[in-house]
Amino acid sequence: MAAPKVAVIGAGVIGLSTALCIVETCPSSSVTILSDQFSPNTMSDVAAGMLIPHTYPDTPIHVQKQWFKETFTYLFAISNSAEASEAGIHLVSGWQVFKSTPKEELPFWSDVVLGFRPMSKPELQKFPRHRFGQAFTTLKCDCPPYLLWLEKRLKATGVQMYNRKVADLWELQREYDIVVNCAGIGAHQLVGDKKLFPVRGQVLQVHAPWVKNFIRDGDGLTYIYPGIHRVTLGGTREKDSWSLSPDPGTTRDIFDRCCSLEASLQEAQDIRVKVGLRPSRHRVRLQREVLSQGGVKLLVVHNYGHGAGGFSVHRGTAKEAARLVGECIAALRGSSSRAKL
Ligand code: FAD
Repeated sequence: MAAPKVAVIGAGVIGLSTALCIVETCPSSSVTILSDQFSPNTMSDVAAGMLIPHTYPDTPIHVQKQWFKETFTYLFAISNSAEASEAGIHLVSGWQVFKSTPKEELPFWSDVVLGFRPMSKPELQKFPRHRFGQAFTTLKCDCPPYLLWLEKRLKATGVQMYNRKVADLWELQREYDIVVNCAGIGAHQLVGDKKLFPVRGQVLQVHAPWVKNFIRDGDGLTYIYPGIHRVTLGGTREKDSWSLSPDPGTTRDIFDRCCSLEASLQEAQDIRVKVGLRPSRHRVRLQREVLSQGGVKLLVVHNYGHGAGGFSVHRGTAKEAARLVGECIAALRGSSSRAKL
């Protein structure tokens, strides 16, 4: 059988990392990325890219932990390499603070991040409105650098990338053996997934180079995430809102909330506003599917619906998607050798 042709739809963090894992684990395949947007215009470009997992209610915790661990290990190695700055990957220490003690004092990911511990009383004095806190060191992916780094690696391995909007998976059936759907919120239209919904997020990116530690309110709504060049201030979580227009009232509200956690941000300069839609589902759709139409089959692997935590688990889910592509290739080989008999 000739090299199986794989089309990956999507060039956000999920599409690019999935394509890379397919190249790494199925070297006999020929991989092409088709996407209507590339960095810096994907939803992934809006994200702060912090590795603090979001919980998917319908996915077993041990699976989520495995995805997070694989992602953390992968990015930690990059952060320790000469490529760290180009890839936009860096360690960042800080605090998650709560107005009351959370039910779960030890989140499932506490032994994956580095140095997780309860905050001391003197540390908590920095946050007079909060009663409990956790200190730890985690990783952050700066975007667009991380997406551009992934694209560069893919191009170096010969992966082709085309600007193309796919209206129907079947339009790819003649050209490709396997289609991998990493369309993020685009899957709502592409495969009509009604379980997928947008959770709108507005963030500010500011110049405040003196802010070195992350601060996250335990409610997940207000956060300050320092990157290599800019600090991301968040945010909002607006379920079922498809609007990509920044709201000036929300900008003021985010800024005030962040200043109440870190007063020095009053002096922040060059405030830029960004809006993105988190592709949300109760569980990531990480699944093999065989579509059938008039006796013709199309092998599909889905990998979308990462909601608020795509960066935190991208490498883990990409590895699993690549494993599913490997199963599809084995099935194709099986059917082509049977056809020869
Ligand atoms: P996208 O980045 O949306 O990529 C989808 C790709 O598919 C795009 O290239 C698009 O053009 C393409 N596409 C869609 N439909 C089609 C089609 N029909 N044909 C061709 N191409 C198509 N996560 C974290 O882990 N940590 C954070 O700190 C964090 N902060 C966030 C802050 C905000 C404000 C937001 C909005 C999100 C945040 N996230 C965070 C979540 C994270 O951004 C997402 O989970 C992740 O970006 C999803 O990646 P994706 O590749 O699935 O989607």
